[in-house]
Amino acid sequence: MHDTEFETRAAELIEAGRFIDGRGWVPATSGNFSARLGDGRIAITVSGRHKGRLRPEDIMLVDAAGRSLDGRKPSAETLLHTGIYRRYPEAHAVLHPHSPASTLLSRLVTGAVILEDYELLKALAGIDTHATRIVVPVFPNDQDIPRLALKIEEYLVRHDRVHAYIIAGHGFYTWGKSVADALRHVEALEYLFDLETRMHGVKR
Ligand SMILES: [Zn+2]
Repeated sequence: MHDTEFETRAAELIEAGRFIDGRGWVPATSGNFSARLGDGRIAITVSGRHKGRLRPEDIMLVDAAGRSLDGRKPSAETLLHTGIYRRYPEAHAVLHPHSPASTLLSRLVTGAVILEDYELLKALAGIDTHATRIVVPVFPNDQDIPRLALKIEEYLVRHDRVHAYIIAGHGFYTWGKSVADALRHVEALEYLFDLETRMHGVKR
């Protein structure tokens, strides 16, 4: 069956992957991307594929609970994507890079990254002034994804205005109304994380 919406979203994820990989933010098959379709199904990257060289067959479908709808194996971190979609009905894309600045910054702070008084914060949805204080929580990494997903979801339901979260020593998650929105968030946040690492005096 011809599934135009799926194909369109898959093409957007492939293009986003090329951009993110071009910046060096998804090395060696790391990271994962998804987009939610109008009927609630989720287009997500197949486990183990290089995110800078995705082809249409590297994007598959799961249901809202993260179960494969086409027999293939989705990303190991699918439950983190479905948790974000559950919490934010307006979110239609989730992007997860393993980027250097977010990873490094998570080793320099404990608990959360605070971003404030940056003009670039206006790149985040709903923010129209630099005079803003954004809390980006940092969760310890965990290979038990269901346990990690539960912990993160508990945080997200208790806090408003969360735009992203970092997993320590690993990378970050952000989301948006569209793939383009989420990609803008990735680019802005990684830039701000980079500035924050420099503030910590880390030589690069
Ligand atoms: Zn990851």
